[in-house]
This record gives sequence, structure tokens and C-alpha cells, in this order.
Amino acid sequence: MALVVQKFGGTSVGDIKKIENVARKAIAEYERGNKVVVVVSAMAGETNRLLALAHSITDLPDERELDVLVSTGEQVSVALLAITLKKLGYKAKSYLGSQVKILTDSAFTKARILEVESRNILKDLDEGYIVVVAGFQGVDKDGNITTLGRGGSDTTGVAIAAGLKADVCDIYTDVDGVYTTDPRIYNKARKLKKISYDEMLELASLGSKVLQIRSVELAKKYKVPVHVRSSFTDEPGTIVCEEDKDMEKVVVSGVSYNKDEARITLVNVPDRPGIAAQVFGEISKGNIVVDMIIQNSSIDGTTDLTFTVPKSDLKKALILIEKIAKDLGVKEVLSDDSIAKVSIVGLGMRSHSGVAAKMFEVLGKAGINILMISTSEIKISCAIDEKYTELAVRVLHDAFELDKEPTVEG
Ligand code: ADP
Ligand code: ASP
Ligand code: MG
Repeated sequence: MALVVQKFGGTSVGDIKKIENVARKAIAEYERGNKVVVVVSAMAGETNRLLALAHSITDLPDERELDVLVSTGEQVSVALLAITLKKLGYKAKSYLGSQVKILTDSAFTKARILEVESRNILKDLDEGYIVVVAGFQGVDKDGNITTLGRGGSDTTGVAIAAGLKADVCDIYTDVDGVYTTDPRIYNKARKLKKISYDEMLELASLGSKVLQIRSVELAKKYKVPVHVRSSFTDEPGTIVCEEDKDMEKVVVSGVSYNKDEARITLVNVPDRPGIAAQVFGEISKGNIVVDMIIQNSSIDGTTDLTFTVPKSDLKKALILIEKIAKDLGVKEVLSDDSIAKVSIVGLGMRSHSGVAAKMFEVLGKAGINILMISTSEIKISCAIDEKYTELAVRVLHDAFELDKEPTVEG
């Protein structure tokens, strides 16, 4: 008997018929003799609808209250799924994050899971229940409702799988696996049979939202095998697992893009020790994650400091920066929310040279100007004008021949 955690995303529970389809997938697993926990997201579009309601009141809604609001989406889904399972003749019980309980820190709208209590769920499973858990939500030590950031139900799924020591976490979604790039952007994208945690982590961090970053971090830490697959077929999808020797030989395994970042430039910042610490210290007070950073070489004792933040945090970041800009003697604060970041990822970059040069050349030939660059051991990212995103993805995918199965030699 195996313990299986199944997570279904928003499109998979988009209407009552689709919820019945989810129920049947859970029942099929149960009938195979397995214990089943199902984690569900809000119905498609619901989280966006709720966020839009709050933003129609104010630009910066209170984040504690936002979490109270958006967590309702998943509450609806768990109840509807449990009702469906019971109607089909099975024992089922729904749980909210606070009932499980999924204890998080208090960083509203982007909380991190600290602990998952597994006692109640394990007892229900022993008694033959199919357990249905609300994705995306948790509770902090003071009893406040929290949410885990967009796409957070993936993280709930993996955290529950880790907590219960499940045999697998199946992530059911609207694509049938992880592809070399977003299949909605490029029809030559190729489905991967397996991908290492580290590559998936980079792809997710760089914008491939098929899995939330944190879910991959947890899967790697607790060695949870993750199977990304389609809600609408029974075909095997992509296994996210530890790397093996063959994976290392593939130089570039995927291209990702991210249109969710914005660029802030502080013009004429005095070039003296401690300035960067002050700027980024202020930004971190807002719990804002800074991604790419460049500082130009100083001319006449001043420099320009450019960095990117999530678009959703741009207003908050600008308010924080404006507060200290005068004291720092910054001439001007500029912002641009029409940028995108395209990245290539691959374990083989560790041992191959010339990959960055090739990427820059390919973008250059396509007439795409590079605004910022950042690299790590297994990825290279370039910030570009947002309007060239799709073009950049396609030319990179072609140049690195990602549509072809890689030939792995000795
Ligand atoms: P869910 O609602 O099930 O959580 P998401 O919309 O969060 O689904 O994630 C699935 C989507 O991820 C796909 O529809 C696809 O457009 C997108 N995606 C981005 N990059 C990739 C990739 N490399 N492989 C597969 N899907 C990708
Ligand atoms: N409903 C949340 C969102 O739309 C969480 C999720 O779907 O994973 O981001
Ligand atoms: Mg998702």
C-alpha cells in the first residue's frame, strides 16, 4: 500500500464537472489500495477575481486581510470536492490549512511553511477516508490566516507529502509534464521524461510557473519524488528527482521567461561605503525580494544603481526608496515595468564554456538588446524589453536545439 498525495491546480477544478474528474482520479488511486490525500487550488480565475476586488478598493490592500480574502478560494474547492467524493459513495473529509494544521511564519501573502501536523490526516487515512486539503493557505502561531504566494498549492502538496512521508507527490495540471520551455509560447517545446531538482529549481525561479519554487526546494530537501502530469489523461508526465550522470551531460535543458519583474534605477547615487546596504536594507523591510542588481562604475563620485523587484511589489518598493532617496542624495529614481527576463538552464553548463557567449550572440542577431545579465553555475539570465520575450524564447530554443532529444555520449 502506498501513500499518494495528489495536487490539482485551478484549471483542473475549474467547474463542477472537472471537480468530478478530480474525484474520479482520487477514487482510482484509492481503489488501487492506496491511501490518498488530495490538495486542491481555488477554481480557475478565482484568486485573480478576489485580488481584483481588493485592488478596486486600494492600490495597497492590507496584506493580513488579503490573505483572509484569497484563502476563501481554496475553501470552496475542498468543500466541493469532499461533497462530490461523498456523493460517489466514498468517505471523505476536507481540511483548511489551519485545521491540518499547516503552521507558517507571519509573512502575509508569501508565508513559509514551518511545520505540518500529520496526526489528524494519518488517523483519517487509517480509517479509510480520502483526505482533501486546501492548498495555498496556512496559519501563523497567533492564529492568523496566511497564504503561501501565487502557485502556493504546489508547495502545500509537497509539504504534506514530506510531512506524511508519502511515496510520491503527483502534481496534476493543464499540461502533461515539464517542457523545455512553456509549450504555450513555443510549439516546438519538448516534454522531458525527468529533470533534476536543481534544474527545476532554476527553471521555476526564472519564471516557469508549472511548479512554485518553494515546492521544488521542499521536494529536494525531503527527497520527495514529484510527478508533474495532466489532469485530463492517464499518460506519465515528468519526474522531478535527484540528478543522475546522464543529466550532467546536457548543456542546456530548458529556457524560461519571466514578465513579472520591474526595474528600478537610482540615478547618481553617491559612491561611498554602506549605500547599497542602506538601499537594500530599506527594500527588505518590505519583505521584497530583489533579483538582478547592477551598479555602474563610478564617474565623479556617483554611480547608477539598477535592480529588479517583482512587479507586484514595485509600488511598495518605490515608496520605501523615495523615503531614503533624499537622505542618500540620489538625483532621480526611475522605474520600468515593461521588462522581461529570459534564461537558459542546464547542469552541463558547469563543465562547458562558451554558453553565455552563444546566448548573447543569438539575442544580438535577433536584434534584442540586453539590459542586464546575471549568471549562476547552471543558468544565464538576460533582462530584455518585454515585447521581445516570445522571440527571445524561440531563438534560444532553436539555437540550443532543445526540440531534439539530446544525444548523451560516454
Ligand atoms: P495549475 O493551475 O495547475 O497550478 P499553472 O498555470 O500554475 O497550473 O502551471 C501550468 C502552466 O505552466 C502551463 O499551462 C504552462 O503554460 C506553464 N509553463 C511554463 N513553463 C512551463 C514548462 N517549462 N513546462 C510546462 N509548463 C510550463
Ligand atoms: N490559488 C492560488 C493561486 O492562484 C494558489 C495556486 O493555485 O496554487 O495562486
Ligand atoms: Mg500552479
